[in-house]
Amino acid sequence: SVIETGELQVILEDIADRVAGMSERGKVAQYIPELASVDLNQFGIAVAPIDGAPVSAGNADTLFSIQSISKVFSLTEALQHVGATLWQRVGREPSGDPFNSIVQLEHERGIPRNPFINPGAIVVADVLLEDRSSDEAVNDVLNLCRTLAEDASIQVDKAVADSEMRTGSRNRALAHFMKAEGNLKAPVEDVLSLYFRQCSIAMSCRQLAVAGRYLAAAGQNPADGSTVLSAQRARRVTALMMMCGSYDASGEFAFRVGLPAKSGVGGGILCIVPGIASVTAWSPGLDAKGNSHLASIAFQELVRATGWSVFGPS
Ligand code: GLU
Repeated sequence: SVIETGELQVILEDIADRVAGMSERGKVAQYIPELASVDLNQFGIAVAPIDGAPVSAGNADTLFSIQSISKVFSLTEALQHVGATLWQRVGREPSGDPFNSIVQLEHERGIPRNPFINPGAIVVADVLLEDRSSDEAVNDVLNLCRTLAEDASIQVDKAVADSEMRTGSRNRALAHFMKAEGNLKAPVEDVLSLYFRQCSIAMSCRQLAVAGRYLAAAGQNPADGSTVLSAQRARRVTALMMMCGSYDASGEFAFRVGLPAKSGVGGGILCIVPGIASVTAWSPGLDAKGNSHLASIAFQELVRATGWSVFGPS
């Protein structure tokens, strides 16, 4: 249901107040040095209705590393470029293994389970390099984010990208394994250079919420009515978010919240409320599966207050 702006503002303020008082906040991602130093005591939430101005509370304008949430935008670009042929190189099933797991790749001969785990997103990055350099492809992903968020100031955080480039042995291993199986075309370092930089894009809750609106609006960008994806493809991206967007806790997130979501190890979670709004919550502390602890709680509370779960109100 559509909720009036003033009422939504009260709901968001209330959620921000409540989570601010919680002592259990999770842990910041340790394996990317640059992310390990982010202040745990931050929380923001922003709702971008498809037909109105964004409403927010907390640190909704603070920039954070979007990390795996970038996989939604790179997938969107890859679908724009190669369409359904993408599915010859990456699957559509939840993995049940951690986002950086290598075991499944060996069992399924270098075809990653879905585009939202690391190897899947690395294949998507390779698809984007078919006719472009890494620098051009980074600019394309960045420009998509800027257009969708209606904010030309969005940038890659170079310190985070360098940090990942230096320490990303595990992603390098995934990429080389897929190269060996014939599922990467471009040189591994070119693919990783794109992948690490797209993950290092810095955005705020408000920018990300605005950017996600096309997925709530059947593929149309509400800002100008342009088609970002066909309605069918937008629906498929949100289906993948529901099944695979929260690592190996996607089932748990569907159980607790019931909205298509994509989370990132920077502590952001983008959720789509089909036909109504795009929402982002952020807090840097993660739970054991890599999802933001407080952002997950915030979404449970938001759904309780609004009835926005796709499975019905609670
Ligand atoms: N750049 C991160 C990595 O590849 C993304 C992880 C994530 O947000 O899930 O490890």
